[in-house]
Formats: sequence, structure tokens, C-alpha cells
Amino acid sequence: MSLFRMPNVPGCQQDHDRRLPVSLLSCLLSHTIVVHNIKRGTMADIEKVIIIGSGPAGWTAAIYAARANLDPLVLEGAISSESEMIPGGQLMFTTEVENYPGFPNGVDGPEMMKAFRDQALRFDVRIRTENVAKIDLSSRPFTLTTSEDKTEQAHSVIIATGASANWLGLESEQHFRKAGLGVTACATCDGAFPRYRDKPVAVIGGGDSAVEEAMFMTKFASQVHIIHRRDKLRASKIMQKRALEHPKVTVEWNSTTEDVLGDDDAGVTGLKLKNTQTGESRTLDISGMFLAIGHTPNTAFLDGQIDLDEKGYIKLKDPERSTTNVEGVFAAGDVHDSIYRQAITAAGMGCKAAIDAERWLADQGIE
Ligand code: NDP
Repeated sequence: MSLFRMPNVPGCQQDHDRRLPVSLLSCLLSHTIVVHNIKRGTMADIEKVIIIGSGPAGWTAAIYAARANLDPLVLEGAISSESEMIPGGQLMFTTEVENYPGFPNGVDGPEMMKAFRDQALRFDVRIRTENVAKIDLSSRPFTLTTSEDKTEQAHSVIIATGASANWLGLESEQHFRKAGLGVTACATCDGAFPRYRDKPVAVIGGGDSAVEEAMFMTKFASQVHIIHRRDKLRASKIMQKRALEHPKVTVEWNSTTEDVLGDDDAGVTGLKLKNTQTGESRTLDISGMFLAIGHTPNTAFLDGQIDLDEKGYIKLKDPERSTTNVEGVFAAGDVHDSIYRQAITAAGMGCKAAIDAERWLADQGIE
């Protein structure tokens, strides 16, 4: 998702250095948010449902839960210039979303998340701009301690904390990524942009995602270089075959990326690659770098209390629903979804989680 054209929000200035959208986010919060955070009597000290996370899954769950009279509290995440886990989630790093139905002309990621949030506020959803530092799911009601060291109790919890794309960690990579100048971790989101059309691009990684992103980019780019650190792809055989036989795809074997080259006018113009076998360095001309080296689900705070798969994604008890191994705890969005990872699928899952929570609470006699 290439970054970052600021949405036009009255009263919020463009962030001219085009860094992380934290200043914009603070502005959006201060201009548009009324935080309803009033405790409502002794019984109400135990929340019916707390939603953790504020991407499409979290806000959709909030809207549905509010309309079901569950009076949800959303812990939307703390604002931090360091963390990927900012309120609004990964879409806050996205320039333009063109594939979310209902926006025929596309929409800025942050603008879209503001709309989601505003819609939740319309139904009096209470929002706190805090992370969950600790959670105790060993007995009900569940206990959550926030980054502000406040303690909340809840009969049910919806976890919608998303997943963060992995990055190489190069300074140049982060510079171009934050500037929206040719480094992104989502070809589906950004691949169709003009800067990549009929130009050579690189996809970093050797798994199914890398091959899928590479195949997707063959529709737009003149040439797609898969940069893989080994001499064998990790991707499934059928995907490998598809890529290796495609005339536009070249695999740069045994290659690691040492630097992303370019400048603030042209954006990314090339990569400095190193051959892991010979130690030789060389330059590869490209206009965009797509990272596909895996995602890390934001599940560390669960501290082993919810069943996770081998990659750390929440395992659903019933794949058709949003239930987890802990009764009363539901999961939605990328935090459990390593396959689709789209805003629309996350939103759909948020809806399911709210409905599941509502029905479960009703079964417990909590309405
Ligand atoms: P994977 O973990 O499968 O692959 C990550 C790739 O990135 C590996 O090739 C790995 O190299 C490489 N890599 C990791 N870290 C670095 C690094 N620091 N520098 C350079 N390269 C690095 O992740 P995917 O996102 O590809 O797939 C996740 C899961 O989703 C898999 O189970 C996959 O099968 C599934 N999936 C399925 C799809 C489908 O069926 N259509 C599409 C997409 C994903 P190395 O191989 O050396 O470890």
C-alpha cells in the first residue's frame, strides 16, 4: 500500500513531510471525536463487549454490536509514531483503496477509516485510544489492562488487532514506504498505480504471497523480478510453475536486498542486491518494490491464552464462525486470516463476530 496522500479533512493540515500519519490522526481525533466514556452504574462496570482493534473488522464489529444494544467499548489502539499498530490499522498506511465496494472513485485509506469510525460514533460507540497491555481470559468476566494502566472487565471480547506486514528493516525501504514512493507490502492494493505501469518492479520473498504478488504485477509491470534469498522457492509447486513459466517473471536467486535506491522526486529507481553465494553486489533497475516476506499477526498481547496456529494467527474453533477456544472471546479480521487479508473480508468478519457475541451473550442471559 503506497503511502501517503493526505485526505482532505477540514481543519486538518496536510502533513508536508509525508511521514507516518500520526499527526493527521491526532487531528482527526481532535476534530471529529466525542469520546463517550461514562461508566453506567455498578452492573455496567462490566462491559458486555470490548472490541480490541480499529481496522475494518473492529469498526464493523462495533457498528453491529452498538446496533444490537450491546453498548460496546472499543480500545482502538494508542497513537504512536513507532508502532504499526495505530488506530485504524493498516489502512492508515494506504494511499488509495480502489477495491472496497461502494467507493466507485476509490477512497484514501485514512479517510475510509475515519468514515468507519464516524459511523460507529453515530451509534454512540465508546472509544478509547489505548492499547491492551495485558489481558486475563482465565475466568469471566475477562480483565483487560490498558496501556494507560486502566482496568476493564468484559463479559465478551472481540479481538480485531490485525496483522502487520513484515519489512526488511532497511532505512531506505522505510523512507520510500512512508513517502508513498514505490515501496509497499500489498500489490493487490497498490499494483495498479501508474508508477508501476509498463515499468520493471521487484517482489521480495519466495513464498506463495511473493508468487501471487508477482503474478498480479505481470498485469501492469513490464518485468517482474522475484528477489529470493535462496535457490528454491517456498511457494507451492503449482504457483512456482506458473511464475517460472511466465515470460515477464524472472527470479533473482540467492539474492538479498541491501539497499533501496532512488530519490524523493523519482521515488524508487533500483535495488542494490547481494548474491549470497558469491558476495557480489549489483544494481537492479526497478520502479517499485513489493514486500511479500510474511505478516506477523498482532497476537503477542494474548500471551498464549488463545489457541494460535504455527504462524501466530488466532485459530477459530469453528472456521465458519468467529469463535475461539475461549468461550466469550471472538476473533475478526487479519488477526486470524492469513489468506485473504482484505479490508472487505475483515469487515465481513467483524460483522460475524458481533453477531456471534450478541448471540452468545443472549445465551448467557446478558442483554
Ligand atoms: P511465507 O512465510 O510462506 O514465505 C515468506 C517468504 O519470505 C519465504 O520465501 C522467506 O524466505 C522469505 N523471507 C522471510 N523473511 C525474509 C527476509 N528477511 N528477507 C528475505 N526474504 C525473507 O509467507 P507467505 O506470506 O508467502 O505465505 C503465508 C501463508 O499463506 C503460507 O502458508 C502460504 O502458503 C499461504 N498463502 C497461500 C496462498 C494461496 O494458496 N493462493 C497465497 C498466499 C499465501 P525462505 O523461503 O528462505 O524462508
